[in-house]
Amino acid sequence: MGSDAATGTSDAMIPFVWSDSCLNHDPAAEIWLGVRTPGTEVPDRIRVVRDELQAAGHKEIPAQSHSDDLLLRVHDPALVNFLTGAFQEWASGGYDVDPGQDRVVPYFFPSAEMMHGLPGGRMRATHARTGEFCYDTMTLIGPGTWLAARSAIDVALSAVDLVIAGAPAAFGACRPPGHHVTRASYGGSCYLNNAAVAAEALRSNGHAKVAVIDIDAHHGNGTQAIFYERSDVAFASVHVDPGAGWFPHAVGFADELGRNAGYGMNLNLPQSPGAGDASWLAAVERAAGFVANFGATALVLSLGVDAAIDDPESPLQITADGYERAGQIIGQLKLPTVSVLEGGYHLPSIGILVSATLRGLGG
Ligand SMILES: [Zn+2]
Repeated sequence: MGSDAATGTSDAMIPFVWSDSCLNHDPAAEIWLGVRTPGTEVPDRIRVVRDELQAAGHKEIPAQSHSDDLLLRVHDPALVNFLTGAFQEWASGGYDVDPGQDRVVPYFFPSAEMMHGLPGGRMRATHARTGEFCYDTMTLIGPGTWLAARSAIDVALSAVDLVIAGAPAAFGACRPPGHHVTRASYGGSCYLNNAAVAAEALRSNGHAKVAVIDIDAHHGNGTQAIFYERSDVAFASVHVDPGAGWFPHAVGFADELGRNAGYGMNLNLPQSPGAGDASWLAAVERAAGFVANFGATALVLSLGVDAAIDDPESPLQITADGYERAGQIIGQLKLPTVSVLEGGYHLPSIGILVSATLRGLGG
């Protein structure tokens, strides 16, 4: 492996993809149990990750723009259309003045049970329409949200391009994160599923079997749902047990194994609140073994670092050494690997944790 003495970068270090546009999303707030609380998925998250990766000598690659083709293979066009125009529609409706809400937020959720099989897509009021696509009140849309979310897709696809061109691994500094977004619904501070689009891109570039390993503290319910009935993309997730009261609450249990052609291609490894490195790493080992048995030829790593001991958003207790070891375990699969950023909210440590994981992954 060569190195560039002038910049301190080394060919052995995993390159990362960056887009300034991912800074444009400012959720401003979350509506938690009806109360407006400060947003936690803030632009500084990727700034600190970028600073740490630059300091460690990882090469920064600017994101390139990509067409909507792969995005629309993963997501329902109705969701993409809604997100594209949601803020403008909200602003035109004057909701910032009456009732004084400057972010797109749902209040009405037409559940499957309420609809009783009747057709959806017929709501006209903007304040009602939002609930057809958004499943929580925590995931607000502001003026820069669509640009950032769409740019995060370009970041993920540019990381795929690097791997297809021969890099052993690449990291996408995606923001907003994506793993909670299903084919047609968003939530959990996510709008478009960066990991799922990356997996679809690897499939379309000749990889017959692709796996996604998700080590974010929360279950990747969106990615699971997108691939749940498919035999060509396997999904394994290590996360805090939703049965212990954690987001996404309704999904992420160990008995969710996939359906139809996808049966047996889904593995959930829920962890008890308070779980530390030993239990978590044993689960990461199981996820890696599952991916090896599946016969994947390429991997997407949903790299959330909110399972860390200092993170305010989960009760897991993972150390920086644990993240580095997880990277090593996954790196030992020797698969072309695209990592994308998911959660991680403790600003003083998330850059260090991402860097530690990539150090392990890069061997
Ligand atoms: Zn998370």
